[in-house]
Amino acid sequence: MLHQQIDQKISEKEAWALRRQLGIPNNKRLWVLACMDERLPVEKALGIGEGDAHIFRNAGGLVTDDAIRSAMLTTQFFGTKEIIVINHTECGMMTASGDFLSEVLRNQGIDVDQVNVDPALPELKLPKGVFSKWIKTFTDVDESCTQQVELLRNSFLIPQDVVIHGYIWEVENMSLRRPYKRLSEKVNTASAMNTKTTKHTQPVLEIGSLIE
Ligand SMILES: [Zn+2]
Repeated sequence: MLHQQIDQKISEKEAWALRRQLGIPNNKRLWVLACMDERLPVEKALGIGEGDAHIFRNAGGLVTDDAIRSAMLTTQFFGTKEIIVINHTECGMMTASGDFLSEVLRNQGIDVDQVNVDPALPELKLPKGVFSKWIKTFTDVDESCTQQVELLRNSFLIPQDVVIHGYIWEVENMSLRRPYKRLSEKVNTASAMNTKTTKHTQPVLEIGSLIE
């Protein structure tokens, strides 16, 4: 009967609109922390769709106070059981140091020691000299990703049973990998491929000699 299909659709729409009031978590019970970079398509990278996750993005995909705030809310109150961090190669946060960026702002007349980091919460102040650290630049994406996971795992605001993992999105080949697991390093040289050699110590396949 048609009315059954209509009623079903109305029920589904109501459940979608009233999710928070009904205590329905997102489909995958997932919170994602990802960099804001336009080359990182979060849903595509994770193979998830509409309604599957709460997604938090900032510069770098880093654990900041607001990231902790959001992670705390989703895990403590909205039924989220899993966290995935996505950082990426060629991240803008690796292109300059915090001190350099602070200097650029100072040269524009901005007093970085007198900044309201949260205009709606003036009580939240940075001690003098901390602004550069607050920007949170980093120098190694694999190291940074691992750190973000540890920071979240060690946060007392996030329940201990929440499962937390981190991945790197490679913008150069649009795919996800685990931290420190760069396939390119295993496939571009004979030595990395652990090429079998003869007793005369020459590799069976020597890329350089083949080219010559
Ligand atoms: Zn980035």
